[in-house]
Formats: sequence, structure tokens, C-alpha cells
Amino acid sequence: MSVLLVHPRLAGDPFADPVLYLDFRFGRRALLFDIGDLAPLSPREIARVTQVFVSHMHMDHFAAFDRLLRLSLYRDARVDLVGPPGLADAVESKLRAYTWNLLDAESRDFSLSASDWAEGGFMHASLFRARDAFRRQEIAPPSLNGMALMDDPEFTIEAAVLDHGVPSLAFTFQEKTRVNVHKARLDALGLPVGPWLTEAKRSVRRGDLSRRLSPADGRQVTIRDLLEAGALRTGAGQRIVYATDLAFTELNTKRLVALAHGADRLYIEAGFLEEDRLLAASKKHLTAAQAGSIARLAGVAEAFPMHFSPRYADRADELRAEFASAMAGG
Ligand SMILES: [Zn+2]
Ligand SMILES: [Zn+2]
Repeated sequence: MSVLLVHPRLAGDPFADPVLYLDFRFGRRALLFDIGDLAPLSPREIARVTQVFVSHMHMDHFAAFDRLLRLSLYRDARVDLVGPPGLADAVESKLRAYTWNLLDAESRDFSLSASDWAEGGFMHASLFRARDAFRRQEIAPPSLNGMALMDDPEFTIEAAVLDHGVPSLAFTFQEKTRVNVHKARLDALGLPVGPWLTEAKRSVRRGDLSRRLSPADGRQVTIRDLLEAGALRTGAGQRIVYATDLAFTELNTKRLVALAHGADRLYIEAGFLEEDRLLAASKKHLTAAQAGSIARLAGVAEAFPMHFSPRYADRADELRAEFASAMAGG
């Protein structure tokens, strides 16, 4: 049995302002790629969000910042936002639009951070605390190298900078190791299935092989025992890629193909029909066929076209058909 670390899903239909919701199977935690329209998500789902990665600050990708703020304000929590240069200024401007005279040191300890990332690393980061009436405070940005935006014990987030007239970031969620349970081997060891396996899998992903667990009365096993007996097996982790709002240029294609190479799932903008490719080019967007050709070059297992232009409200099938045909090499 294979249990994935996260379940990705588009919050709305392909015409909605984009949001990819990555919900963790274990623990109260979720990540967002873009905050276009959060209306399809429940307040409970939004309250789980701990990190938000913003492709760029066009309104259709950033407008639901207000809803996220509204639903998070009365929680002791922190939400970290990462985006292209200008994100921290944009977050500050959003916060400055409201009156915060009722916030003080007794308020809930809610805070937001906003970090500007450009190719090669973080430029700077700012923190905004509810208890400080969301005054901007400069903080040390994460020190990560290369294309990494986040390095969690269980996954990494990487980005590529694409050209959309402005820099637009495409993101990859890379699970570090996938851990499967082999039930027959577990039975052979006389060990029960149960919540202890969640802890065991986490230890495998963290490389903590000498960790000792007590799965049954009086029994103790180490992670190494379970791997050697084949009761736990490892494989390549899940790779999920989100790419939207990019011009169809050689450099964008090269960068996105490198980022999405061999991905399990690619979510990609496919907003225009081929008959309108000049219009798509003038807006620095992909057509569905161009998006399909990128999915084919990247060799992704599954692709999900999204961010359809509202001009095709009753022609979604044509967009999907042009995407699928190009992905198949037609
Ligand atoms: Zn845009
Ligand atoms: Zn857009």
C-alpha cells in the first residue's frame, strides 16, 4: 500500500483564478501555489495553510490574499509567503489598506512573512505580526542555494523563473522518498498495521534508520529491521509541478521542461485556442497546444490543463482536445 505525502488539487474549475492546494495526509498542514480564488475551499481547509508560493502578483493570482488574512487573523499561527521580487512590498500594501487600531500585544499571535526570491536565492524577507499592528520588520531570509525555496525534512520546493512580461515563478513540490508498506512481510514479522507506521515512514524519509519503535506489546523494532525485512520499501518521491502565465519562448520552454522533467503531475496554463495564438502571444500566455507540447517534452506522467480564458466558457472541450492532441505528439 502506497500513501502519498500530499494530495494536490486545483481549488476551482479550470476557468477559476488558479490555486493549487497541496493537502498533507498527516498533520494539520497545507501549501498553496497561488492565491487566485479561495472561495471553493472551506475555512477549515484554508486554516491549515502554512506556506503560500505566489507565481506573480497579477490580480488573478494574488487577490485571495485578503480571504487568507481574514480567516487566519484570529489564530496563533504563522503563514509564510514566497514570491518574485516585489512580494513583500505587495503584502505590506495589502495590510496597509486596513485599520488595525484594535490589535495590540494581547491579540492573537498571528504573523505573516513575505520573502522575495529571484534566481539564485532570497533577496530579503519581512515579517508582519498582528500584535505589532502588522508593522513591517525586516528579518533574515532563508539561506538556501540554487533553485530551492524550501527544504523540509520530507520535501523540497524549487522554482524556475519564467518570462511573462514580468518574472513568473513555476514551482515543483518534490517528496524526498516515497515509503510503501508491504503487508505480507509485516504479517510475517508478526507486526500489526496501525498509527505507528506513520511514524516509521517519517523516520525513513528523515533517514533515521536506528529509530526504535514499539508497534505491539513488548515488541520493539528499528527502522533498519523493517527495511531489511522488506516490510517497508522506498521509491522515488512524488513530483508535482505548477506552471502558469508564461510566454511561449525557447528559454521558457527549456526552463520549464527542465523543472517538470519526469513529473508525476504537471498543472499548466492552457488558456487559449490555437486560432487565437497571436492573442495569447500578445498577452504572454500559452495556448493549449503549446502547453501540451511542453508536457510531452517534459515526459510527465499526468497533466492537468488549467487557467482557461473566460472567452471560451462553452468551449472547454476544445481547449482540452488541443492540449491532449499536442501532448500525444499530434
Ligand atoms: Zn499573469
Ligand atoms: Zn493569470
